[in-house]
Amino acid sequence: MAFDKQTFWEDISAAGTIGIAGHIRPDGDCVGSALGLACYIRDNFGKDPIVFLEDLPAAFAFLEGADKVLTGFPSSEPFDLFIAVDCGDEGRLGKAMNYVKEARKTYCIDHHATSTGFLENNLVKPEAAATAQIIYTLCDDKGISKGCAEALYLGIVHDTGVFKHSCTTRETMEVAGALLDHGVSSSRIIDGTFFEKTYLQNQILGRCLMESILCLDGRVIFSAIDRKTINFYGLGPADTEGIIDQLRVTKGVEVAILIRELTPRSWRVSMRSCEIVDVAKICTLFGGGGHVRAAGATMSGSRRDVINNLTAEIEKQL
Ligand code: AMP
Ligand code: MN
Ligand code: MN
Repeated sequence: MAFDKQTFWEDISAAGTIGIAGHIRPDGDCVGSALGLACYIRDNFGKDPIVFLEDLPAAFAFLEGADKVLTGFPSSEPFDLFIAVDCGDEGRLGKAMNYVKEARKTYCIDHHATSTGFLENNLVKPEAAATAQIIYTLCDDKGISKGCAEALYLGIVHDTGVFKHSCTTRETMEVAGALLDHGVSSSRIIDGTFFEKTYLQNQILGRCLMESILCLDGRVIFSAIDRKTINFYGLGPADTEGIIDQLRVTKGVEVAILIRELTPRSWRVSMRSCEIVDVAKICTLFGGGGHVRAAGATMSGSRRDVINNLTAEIEKQL
């Protein structure tokens, strides 16, 4: 069904219970969108949505409402309204899909090019740099508190790589500017949640760069983190954030690939491209998805199988 802004707020106004969830292995945009929207609803409608996230990376714990996020997915009465943010398909919503199935009304707010329109009402804007940017455009600026603004700003900062990726538009900057007017400390969010790395994160970054391999005449860079390494360092999903971005800026590289072994012979794939290759198209072929310049998938086989399958597809586009 087509999304209607007025109906969306009327539905929120009418709902007794509201649930909000983002995708599995939540990133900054996912957390910022969910908490920003929950905060806006709390401040302007006097109701308290329940936010479900699989995990809450420690760097985001200062956000308003973060302390109330449920990282388990307990059974509950059906929600009157359930909103999925920054998530384009059933598989990516993970266990929160159970709430969606029972909810009386469902909404999806997302910006992935591969979003399937899987809920009752879908607002999907692939041209938006972040879901948090879309959420801002739904809200009345006058109703935005500092806590809400911090969450939305954080979402935009993370999905644009601090206003650097090609998805960053004039609108992105204008929304970010409007959010700054609500008292957001940009350096706290940018340095504190994006650039700051733990010693462990720096160590694994260094290792990935050292062990990276160039292929297809230096146009593709590839690095892998296997189970042994993950266990040795005790790495969580947040510990490898940003590595792919450093790989991508290698001179001459068009596509960067980082794979992490989830279970034996099953790999979490991250891909980034600079100007030419549509990585969402490639990830979709292997059951994943994402954006033209940033996408992901889960693939099985040996490390060599994964790299061979991916480079064969990249070669077709180069
Ligand atoms: P990542 O490499 O995990 O940072 O993901 C890059 C982008 O692709 C993010 O916007 C993700 O939300 C998206 N993405 C990653 N994996 C998938 C997937 N399996 N299906 C759809 N989108 C994905
Ligand atoms: Mn995301
Ligand atoms: Mn996003």
